[in-house]
Amino acid sequence: MSEPLVIDETQSAILDTVRRFNADVVAPVASELDARDDPEDCFSWEIIEKADELGIRTLTLSEDWGGLGVDSLTAALVIEELAKADIGISVVMAQTLKIAQILQLALTEAQQQKYIPMFRDTPRGLLAIGITEPETASNYFVQHDAPFQTKAEKVDGGWRINGMKHFISNGNRANVYLLFAQTEKGKPLAEGATCFLLDRSLDGFTIGRVHDKMGERLANNAELLFENCFVPDENVVGAVGKGFQVLVDFFPASNAYAAATIIGTATTAYERALDWARNRVQGGKPLIEHDGIRAQLAEMHMLLDVARTYVRKATWMADNRDLGWEPALAALPKVFASQAAWKIVTWAAEMHGGYGYMRELGLEKLMRDAAAFLHSDGVNRTLLLKAAKMLF
Ligand SMILES: Cc1cc2nc3c(=O)[nH]c(=O)nc-3n(C[C@H](O)[C@H](O)[C@H](O)COP(=O)(O)OP(=O)(O)OC[C@H]3O[C@@H](n4cnc5c(N)ncnc54)[C@H](O)[C@@H]3O)c2cc1C
Repeated sequence: MSEPLVIDETQSAILDTVRRFNADVVAPVASELDARDDPEDCFSWEIIEKADELGIRTLTLSEDWGGLGVDSLTAALVIEELAKADIGISVVMAQTLKIAQILQLALTEAQQQKYIPMFRDTPRGLLAIGITEPETASNYFVQHDAPFQTKAEKVDGGWRINGMKHFISNGNRANVYLLFAQTEKGKPLAEGATCFLLDRSLDGFTIGRVHDKMGERLANNAELLFENCFVPDENVVGAVGKGFQVLVDFFPASNAYAAATIIGTATTAYERALDWARNRVQGGKPLIEHDGIRAQLAEMHMLLDVARTYVRKATWMADNRDLGWEPALAALPKVFASQAAWKIVTWAAEMHGGYGYMRELGLEKLMRDAAAFLHSDGVNRTLLLKAAKMLF
């Protein structure tokens, strides 16, 4: 498909690298990893180490920090490209690329000096963000008054954290985390939660279950458990009680990155459908010569193009907020892209007839993968409510 906003040679060169990585490293093993029973076995450190070698893992670190300092639009192009080979790999990297951006913007100089090298200097360095917990989930998106159950209590020199998070992407694989915990009793999330920086060495911080997901299996999601975990004062990110401001101020492209991921998966489904329609003959001619199929392929193309354009707009505006920013762009691109993607993957499977349902052609993997983004990065309905609050 065309890439209308690939505007410079650097972006093209980066995308060429990602395409080679997809073809040589991810595509040959993705189906086999996806089919493993134990979710932990679906994750591959070899893939992450190769992504590190090629500079993909640290693309959003500034040149001063040893990365390429790519902007949000370029990061979204990379995230989309990665998802064309496998959605899980795209998710692992998308989390890492976006949290690396936050670390450079939201952390103090001293925090950066400690935590950025910790992430950068190990080829297996990955990043995660812990917000969702069993009883406080969509409440964060709709800004309901309920507090987090994960609490940080003030003690001498720091905070003592108790509670748990779940569903956390890279939860069991990351070495640096952003964690949200309730610090102000009786206050709603937006006024009473604080953002903390964590690493794996903290006593009282352990990993719980690794979730067994229907798709997106090359990424792991896990529980984060806190039992009297002491975190020093210097690990508070931003102001105490103003955790969500960290996300509002420094995370505007996050939703568009999620949209970019699902667009990558949907693009693969579309290309598979197109190829199939050109080659499969029924009714005396290739499927693509039947009007019903042609029209559906054109609609798939249109949905992808619009979803992609929305991501381009949101990422560009996220980096140029001085020129105007529409807050709903932090909620809506993923909703549109995931709804479009769900149509595209299910139509693509249907277009393959009985083959679409058979594991051998891999359409069923694309369907399982695409379903992830109806649920993750905020359930769509709650993102629409979030957008409505901003718009009306
Ligand atoms: C693959 C995956 C990866 C994830 N990664 C992370 C991560 O890295 N970090 C993290 O913090 N979280 C992560 N999540 C959590 C994710 O962001 C969702 O917010 C979370 O799954 C939704 O919470 P819940 O399942 O408890 O649903 P609930 O909050 O219980 O919602 C259930 C249903 O009710 C609807 N609903 C809820 N509230 C309202 C309301 N006020 N009005 C109308 N409808 C409402 C929802 O739209 C949904 O349909 C991930 C989830 C998935 C599936």
